[in-house]
Amino acid sequence: MGSVSTDCWPKVQAALRTLVSASQYRTWFQGLEPREWHNDQLTLVAPSRYTMDWIARHFLPVLQAACEQVTGNRPVVKLEYCRASLHARPSSNDHLRSNTARLSLYDEDQIQLNDTYTFDNFVVGPCNHLAHAAGLAVAEAPALSYNPLFVHGNVGLGKTHLLQAVCRATLARRPNFRLHYISCETFVNQFISAIERRDLDNFRNRYRRVDLLLIDDIHYLADKERTQEEFFHTFNSLYNAKKQIVLSSDSSPKEIPTLEDRLVSRFKWGLVTRFDAPAFETRVAILNQKAKLKGFRLNPDVAAYIAEHVDSNIRELEGAINRVIALAALKQVKEVTLPFAHDCLKDLFEVSDHVSVGDIIDVVTREMNLKLVDLQSRKRTKTISFPRHICMYLAKKMTSHSLVEIGRHFGGRDHSTVVYAISSVRTRMGKDEDTRQLVGRLEHLVGRSKRVRN
Ligand code: ADP
Ligand code: MG
Repeated sequence: MGSVSTDCWPKVQAALRTLVSASQYRTWFQGLEPREWHNDQLTLVAPSRYTMDWIARHFLPVLQAACEQVTGNRPVVKLEYCRASLHARPSSNDHLRSNTARLSLYDEDQIQLNDTYTFDNFVVGPCNHLAHAAGLAVAEAPALSYNPLFVHGNVGLGKTHLLQAVCRATLARRPNFRLHYISCETFVNQFISAIERRDLDNFRNRYRRVDLLLIDDIHYLADKERTQEEFFHTFNSLYNAKKQIVLSSDSSPKEIPTLEDRLVSRFKWGLVTRFDAPAFETRVAILNQKAKLKGFRLNPDVAAYIAEHVDSNIRELEGAINRVIALAALKQVKEVTLPFAHDCLKDLFEVSDHVSVGDIIDVVTREMNLKLVDLQSRKRTKTISFPRHICMYLAKKMTSHSLVEIGRHFGGRDHSTVVYAISSVRTRMGKDEDTRQLVGRLEHLVGRSKRVRN
C-alpha cells in the first residue's frame, strides 16, 4: 500500500459522498481542506469554527470510515478552523485553532496515541510473542529488563501498535513518568529546526530528561549523519542514567543503511526482536478481535476467506475487515455471509493480486540464490547489488509504486539510488544479451507466479 498523503483526499471525498446525503456533503464536507496527512494523522481545516465543531460532534466516525475505505486505515483526525476568512485557505498557523479528536496529552509535549493500540487489543501469536513479552516487561519494569528494546519487522506488522501499548501500560502504572513517544521523522525535523534556530540546548534537554524514550521507525536515521551523531549522545545520556529506550525499525540494526557502527552495536545491547508475518490462525484471531472491537461477530467462513487472501500485512487485514463492516452497516445487513464479504472485497483482493514488490523479491531471491536481507543490506558487492538493481527495475516496470516507495523496500534507499539502479540495468541490457535474457526470464516468472496463484 502506498504512503498516505493529502493527495488521497479526493478519493476520501468520493467515499464520503457515498456515506452521507448530498446535502450533508455540501453543507459540511465540501469546504474542508486537508492540511496534512502523515503517520496516520489527518489534519483538516474547516471554513468556520461552527463547521469544525459540528463535524467533531457528528461526523468523525464517518470521516474515519471514508479514510479507511481509501487507505485501509483509520487515521487520528485533527480538526482546525480558519479564523481569518470563511473560505480562504489558512496562510499560517496563527489563524488556526484546534479541536483535536482522539488525542492524548502527556508531559508538556503533545503525544498522539491511537486509542486502540493497547496491549489488550494486541493479538499474540508465534510471529510476535517475543516482542509482546518484551514490551510488557519494559512497561512493568522500565530499564530493568531490556534496554534498549529494539523491535523490527516489515510494515503493517504491529510495531507502532506495540510501542504505543508500552506507552499506555507504563503510564497506567506510573502516571508521573516522563515519557516521550515520537516518530524518528519528527525527531529529525525537530533536530534540524533546532539547528536552524540555534536552540540545540532546548532540544537536548527535552530528550535527555525523560524516563522512557520511544522512537518509532528509527531506520529513518539512515543517511542522516548529524542526527545520528546527536542521537548517539542522547542514547548514551539516557542509557547511562538508566532510563529506558525503545526503538522500532523496518529492518534489524545492522541492515539499516549507513547507520554508524557505534549505533548498530548499541542497538544490540538490549534485546533485538523481530515481528514476522502472522500465520493463518493468528490472522483469523486478529480479524475476530478487530471485528469485536467494532461490536461485530465474524462468521468463521468470512474470517477464513479474508485471512486466506491477505497473508502478510495486518494493516491490510484490518482494511479488509473494516470495509466489510462499513458496508454491512451502511446496507443494514444483519449477518455478513461469505457471498456478501466476497462482493465487498473482490475489488480489493483483485488489486492485491497485482504484482507487488514482494513478488519480485520472492522470484529474484529464489532464482538468484540470495536472501531478502542481502537485498536490503548495505552490501555493495556486485553479486548483491546487481540483483538488487534488477528488483528495482522490475518494481518500476511491473508495479505502480513510486521511486521513493521502491527505495523503501530495499533498506530505505533514496529515490536517486533507485533512478541509478534502473538506468544501470537498462544500460546493461542494452549492451549484454545475457542480462537481457536474465531480466526477461525473471519478469516472466514474476508474472507467472501471479497467474498460477489466481
Ligand atoms: P507497523 O508500525 O509495524 O507498520 P502498525 O503497528 O501500524 O504496524 O500496525 C498496523 C495495523 O495492524 C494497526 O491497526 C494495528 O492495530 C494492527 N495490528 C498489528 N499487529 C497487531 C496485533 N498483534 N493484534 C492486533 N492488531 C494488530
Ligand atoms: Mg509503524
